[in-house]
Amino acid sequence: MLIDNHNREINYLRLAVTDRCNLRCNYCMPAEGINFAKNDTLFTIDELARLSTILVSQGVDKLRITGGEPFVRKDLMVLLRHLAGLDGLEDISITTNATLIGPYIDELKILGIKNMNVSLDAIDKATFERITRRNQYDTVHNNLLRLISEGFNVRINFIALEGQNTQDIIPILDLAKHYDVSVRYLEEMPFNGGSKTFESIAWDYKRILEYIREVYPDYYKLESPATSTSMNYKIPGFKGTFGVIPSFSRTFCGSCNRLRISATGDVITCLYAKASTNLRDILRQPNSEENIKKEILKAVGSRSKTGFEAQEKYADVFSNSMTSIGG
Ligand code: SAM
Ligand code: SF4
Repeated sequence: MLIDNHNREINYLRLAVTDRCNLRCNYCMPAEGINFAKNDTLFTIDELARLSTILVSQGVDKLRITGGEPFVRKDLMVLLRHLAGLDGLEDISITTNATLIGPYIDELKILGIKNMNVSLDAIDKATFERITRRNQYDTVHNNLLRLISEGFNVRINFIALEGQNTQDIIPILDLAKHYDVSVRYLEEMPFNGGSKTFESIAWDYKRILEYIREVYPDYYKLESPATSTSMNYKIPGFKGTFGVIPSFSRTFCGSCNRLRISATGDVITCLYAKASTNLRDILRQPNSEENIKKEILKAVGSRSKTGFEAQEKYADVFSNSMTSIGG
């Protein structure tokens, strides 16, 4: 079991499989993209499988595949097949933009990988295409509906962006009205590859909740697991639910149970911190298993208590992009 220096159990790994993406969401990276990692600096699929096995042997029982866009990796299913058969791993989830997932939906279902977070920052096509700078709305929408009808546990990630998509905050809730999905509103974070800097946000979780309350005054709070980053709510008569994730306000740090490993091997113990170590070369050397375990223990043993504490230490962290951190 991994216990951090603040006595929190770390059992949740967010593993980025690439930093590349076929979209260019304007809150995530500049139009021209970022300085993407060179191919030989990215883990191979075999290395990602080995790394996951080591982390699971150390007590990780929940693993989220993220990126970049995970499905730009053509060999992603090889990793997912490995993870699906890994003893001790109870929960496998994927965060995706749902542009490329179509051909893999049947096999994902067979593998029992049912937890899908789909990023969808607009229900209006033009707004979606303005934000993502690509014309993939119809594909995303079709794949989303397919995932829902095939019985996946779908959560929709919607970042509330001042001047861009807040007119869709209420309309996107129609998805939760008609389907058993969770629409989760995220606060924007300043990890956008240097596109813009900010020290406060117009739409924090409180404002989002008040705004929804004006239209749906009867919504009520649901119980959530202690380690959940979202606060979740139900509107009477709706099949699904909605939630808010205070990713900028950081109200959930106290119970943080997560560790991130980037596609190039950086170990990130807090979104607002710099990488504490890099595992890629260690994994490529002899005695890798033992040495990786030691590095993980060291990283977990020196975590910041909160994102605010981490931010104090690492002032330049905001030049990062979520696509390379592994959102
Ligand atoms: N490409 C996949 C996707 O978009 O779902 C996975 C990677 S993406 C970096 C993971 C999550 O990070 C997405 O839900 C995305 O909306 C979120 N994200 C990216 N940049 C962000 C930012 N600046 N603030 C808050 N969330 C962000
Ligand atoms: Fe790509 Fe996801 Fe970043 Fe959008 S949020 S550019 S889909 S990595």
